[in-house]
This record gives sequence, structure tokens and C-alpha cells, in this order.
Amino acid sequence: MSNPKWSLASYLDELKRDHPEELLVISEPSPVDYFLTALVLEMEKRRQYQVVVVENPQGSTMPVVANIFASRRRLAQLAGTDEAGLSARYLAAENHPVKPVRVDSGPVKEVVETGGDIDIQKLPIMKHFESDAGRYITSGILVAKDPDTGVCNLSYHRMQVKGPAKLGVSLHSRQHLWDYFERAERRGLPLEVAVVIGAHPVVLLGASSKTSIEVDEYEITGALMGEPLELVAGESIHVPYPAEAEIVIEGRILPGVREPEGPFGEYTGYSTSRSTQNVFQVSAVCRRQNPLYLSVIPGYSMEHLNLMRVAKEALMLERLKERVSTVRNVHYPKSGANFHCYLSMKKMAEGTARQALLLLFGLDPYVKLAIAVDEDIDITDEEEVMWAVATRMQADRDSFVVPHVFCNRLDPSSVDGMSAKLGIDATAPLHWDVIRSTVPREWQERARQLLNGKECP
Ligand code: MN
Repeated sequence: MSNPKWSLASYLDELKRDHPEELLVISEPSPVDYFLTALVLEMEKRRQYQVVVVENPQGSTMPVVANIFASRRRLAQLAGTDEAGLSARYLAAENHPVKPVRVDSGPVKEVVETGGDIDIQKLPIMKHFESDAGRYITSGILVAKDPDTGVCNLSYHRMQVKGPAKLGVSLHSRQHLWDYFERAERRGLPLEVAVVIGAHPVVLLGASSKTSIEVDEYEITGALMGEPLELVAGESIHVPYPAEAEIVIEGRILPGVREPEGPFGEYTGYSTSRSTQNVFQVSAVCRRQNPLYLSVIPGYSMEHLNLMRVAKEALMLERLKERVSTVRNVHYPKSGANFHCYLSMKKMAEGTARQALLLLFGLDPYVKLAIAVDEDIDITDEEEVMWAVATRMQADRDSFVVPHVFCNRLDPSSVDGMSAKLGIDATAPLHWDVIRSTVPREWQERARQLLNGKECP
């Protein structure tokens, strides 16, 4: 049997024990349709990022958990580091993968439903935004095997409930799972997929990796855990999944079948009908006797954007440093919905900031605005970045536009899949003799010590 340490429930127990202030538990019966999205977005306005647990959601016996990934500190804790070390730790995991192991069974097999017993509509799958086409699974990790190499891929895709055993799915980001399905469909074959809903959050963090198509994200999860992830075999498909998962929907993406899917509220903050319109036929539902239902609040929410950007920041940092070794950090600010990116660097020669900015545009087609700052600027603090722009940048000298470049089509201002790229070099000129006002380091430390432990959650 598998180790219960790596379950969602034990993660929540640990959080309750070590950081009770990070939990917001709603015990009384509560609606979840629209309400959970509204609650989390309202919390964000107040800079509150607690994990939300709805113990008695209306219409279901399964508690609903959301907002785990809204806090970067929690993400860093999951990876066994602090916020400043997150990119380096994630990169180390990608560079030193740990293979999963197979176990005979696990809690995810406590209940196995097949055939006429299947009804995914019994799960507390929610409505999130007014303009959404229906109920959507948002936290599902889609696990599939490469039709040629057998490597497992883990990725996130929106899934719309279409019936007791049918889901719509969009692979519009056209990444690894889309590539798998393309190859299967060309052979006239369905693609077997396990949809994992609810697992230890480190599994979701590993699944967000943006590394190459040859890499199995289960191995990155194992590296983040520091030990192999335990997997069980599927009931109706040849795809393994975590033994300690809460709920797994097994099934197939059908070849040659397309049906309308969407619109759905995407990370840009806008509703979009862009969809590959694939159809997923359910063949089994495996779950715990009393599972938790995990949600990732979709749209322009902190947890959605965090899950998209943490792995990307690590990857971009590594790629940029290969050519501009003095790049120190890369950050996608939430305000930019993944279309803006800040980088900090130690400038060794004039022009290297532009070089890094141009590289970034080439590496990530999502980015429309990139700003380079000196290494004394904390790029996770947007106010500091804008202060650097205000005091070290002159628009005529320090900005440039690259017109008509391939971009992300979910940007509603893009035209025919093209957008312009704005680069801003907000690094100070070399040999700048302007003195930044600071207080001595020891007094900064004294101030930190006084405030530590006096923070309000
Ligand atoms: Mn992949």
C-alpha cells in the first residue's frame, strides 16, 4: 500500500497544525457555484490567500478545497524552499528527476465505478463565471502516455461536463498532450487519459513543469518530494496515476470527434470560445470512499496564474543565463496575466539588457512587455520595478518595439495571432554615479527582527 503522507488530506492536516492562519474553513452548508470564485477573488482584493475548505457544499457530500496555490510562500514550502529560492529549487528538480514506483493498490481504488454506474455529475464540479458554458473541472491533471515513446505527460486543461460519462476538453495551448493526441488521431486511435482531481499539492506543482516533451512530469514531482511518487495501474486504461489521489476519471479523447466546448473564463480575465473542441469519453471513475474535491479557481486568479508561472520563471531563468550569465531573476507579475515579464541582472556592458530582453521575446511568445532592471531591484515587488522605470529609464533611449511577432491568441488585443513586443531597459547606465538612499544593513536587520512575529496574517 501507499504512504498516506502524500495525500491532500495529510497536507491539509499539516497546514492546520503548522499554519492554522492559512486555512479558511466554512463548516455550515454553503453554495459553491459562482460563490467560491467570488470569495477567492474578493480575498485577493484584500491580499488574503488562505486555503478555502467548504466542508458541506450544497448538492454534494464531498468537501471542496480551493486556493492552495494562491500563496507563493506555500508553493515554495511545497518545494522545500523559500520564495527567493523557488526558481532554483524547481530547476534542480527538473535537472534531477526521480522515477516513480508502482504499488499494487491505494486509497484511490476504494471505490471503482464502471459502465452504467458512472455519473461524473455527482461530483461537486462547479460553475465559475457567468459567461461559462457550464460546469468545469479546473484542477484536473490530465495524464497520458506518448503514443510512440510511452513517456507520461501531466498537464492542465479545462474540462466541461457534457453528461454522466462525457466531458468536453480544449487542448488550445497546443503543448505536449495536444501533440500526443495528434499522433494518436492520425492513426485513428483514441488517446487514453487519466484525469486526476485532488492529490497532494506537490503533484500539481510538478505537473505544471514546462520542460521538454521527453520528460515525465511524475519524475519532477518525485524530485520535488525527495522520494519516488507511488503510482497504481488504471482500471480501464494503461495510464498509471497517484495511489493517494482523491478522484481519478479514466477515459479516452476520441479521434475524429469534435463538439462545441466553451466559452470559459481564461487566465487573461476574459471569456473565450477558442477551443480544440475535443471529446472525452469516461470509462471508469476511481476514488476514495470519502474524497476531497480539489478546485483551482480559474480565470485571472492568483492561484491559476501562479501554477502557470512558477515553472516558466525557472525555465526562462535557465535559458536566459545560458547566454547572458548575469541575469539574476525572472518574474511574471500577476498584473500582466503572463504577458508581462520582469528580469533583473547585473549589467556588465551596455546593450546586454536589450540582448536579454530580445532573448526573452524569442523564448516565450506570450510576453508582450519585458522590463530589465538592475539586481538591486526586487522584481517580485511591482512597485520597485515601476520605481526603477521611473528613475532609470528614458523612453527614447531605453525602449524598443518589435512589431508583428507570433503571440498567444488568448490575448484579446492580438490580431491574427500577432502582437508587438515592447522592451524596456530600466537598468541604470554603467558607471552611474547616482546614489540610492538606503539605511545600513544592520539596522535593516534590526527592524526585521522587531517586526518578525508581529505580522498580521
Ligand atoms: Mn510535458
